[in-house]
Amino acid sequence: MSSFKTLDDLGDIKGKVALVRVDLNLPMKDGSATDVTRVEAVKPTILELAEKGTKVLLLAHFGRPKGMRHSTMSTSFVQGDVEEVLGKEIMFIPEVMGPVVEQSIGILSDGDIGLLDNVRFWPGEEANDPDFAKGIAAHGDFYVNDAFSAAHRAHASTEGLAHHLPAYAGRAMEAELKALDAALGTPEQPVAAVVGGAKVSTKLDVLENLVGKVQHLIIGGGMANTFLAARGVDVGKSLCEHELTATANRIMDQADHAGCIVHLPYDVVVAKEFAANPASLRTCNVHEVADDEMILDVGPQAVEALGDVLKTCKTLVWNGPMGAFETEPFDAATVSLAKTAAALTEAGALTSVAGGGDTVAALAHAGVKDDFTFVSTAGGAFLEWMEGKALPGVAALTV
Ligand code: ADP
Ligand code: MG
Repeated sequence: MSSFKTLDDLGDIKGKVALVRVDLNLPMKDGSATDVTRVEAVKPTILELAEKGTKVLLLAHFGRPKGMRHSTMSTSFVQGDVEEVLGKEIMFIPEVMGPVVEQSIGILSDGDIGLLDNVRFWPGEEANDPDFAKGIAAHGDFYVNDAFSAAHRAHASTEGLAHHLPAYAGRAMEAELKALDAALGTPEQPVAAVVGGAKVSTKLDVLENLVGKVQHLIIGGGMANTFLAARGVDVGKSLCEHELTATANRIMDQADHAGCIVHLPYDVVVAKEFAANPASLRTCNVHEVADDEMILDVGPQAVEALGDVLKTCKTLVWNGPMGAFETEPFDAATVSLAKTAAALTEAGALTSVAGGGDTVAALAHAGVKDDFTFVSTAGGAFLEWMEGKALPGVAALTV
């Protein structure tokens, strides 16, 4: 793993000012957050810095104000939620640079926390304008990035600041980078990847990156239908990107050359209509899907075989559910395979890393979210990492 500095590399920071990039883009309803997971994630970093006597200035975006002040998108809306999670009062500062910030720093005592306004109110943020970054950097002694979820963007607060101040990964960023490295950077072999979800088209780069890196590529979800169709299977009314069968064949060829075994389901759960527990529900071999049926989940025999594959592996990386898990009983394959992975992880036999919006929801639904080695809530940044792309926010921290 390319190395980066962490909070452990900070010396005596009492009385210093830390500029800390966090993700406070919380889902809101009626003026308060419906989920504070993102604040929980950055709490250790903030409190550690505060306890060491640093003045902590939080820097975050909130919504998409497109470079203009927007009364409904001030970070002041999340101040109360942040205070509640931290168990500490914080000071809202309605700017990101200039005399107001300077005066506020003067008012803050060592160990106090300030919350700067939405950094995307200024066009220099998304443009990654060096002068804008310099203006913010002038207020701090060092920069901490604890927002992995924003690391796929080269913005002033996620990338630019690292060029103007000594830069450190916060605790959440550090944990995320270590977990991702253990999964695909320098993993213990053999490695299995589970890729599911609706469409091949949204995950082409993921698949192409994985075939060169893992020994087992397990394909489920709607995207498995495109691969099955590419192999000449009639998938009936299933969600299927027929125009991508040539691409699917190319990926399977690449896998062959790289020594990666592609696992497609050989039995499936089908129905004539997409509804909970439909009358037409049945399980069949992939070659027996009728013209008016759709594949909505991987079948039980395939799931058992896939569980056996996981038992031979040391590392698992998972993105995308195996079936239409939001509707019963099409959650069965996802739940079963997730439970197998969780049990292997708890037994110390498997390092398991998962990510993706629906994947996190599916693992929570299976009741195993906390039993995986690491579950990333980073969304876009996680997917770009799965695609093998360098993330600018991470690259800027690398020493
Ligand atoms: P993530 O957000 O974890 O990256 P995706 O967004 O790619 O995952 O895919 C999740 C969606 O895929 C879910 O809404 C799920 O219902 C859908 N899906 C999975 N299997 C099927 C299937 N066989 N047919 C239709 N939709 C499916
Ligand atoms: Mg999704």
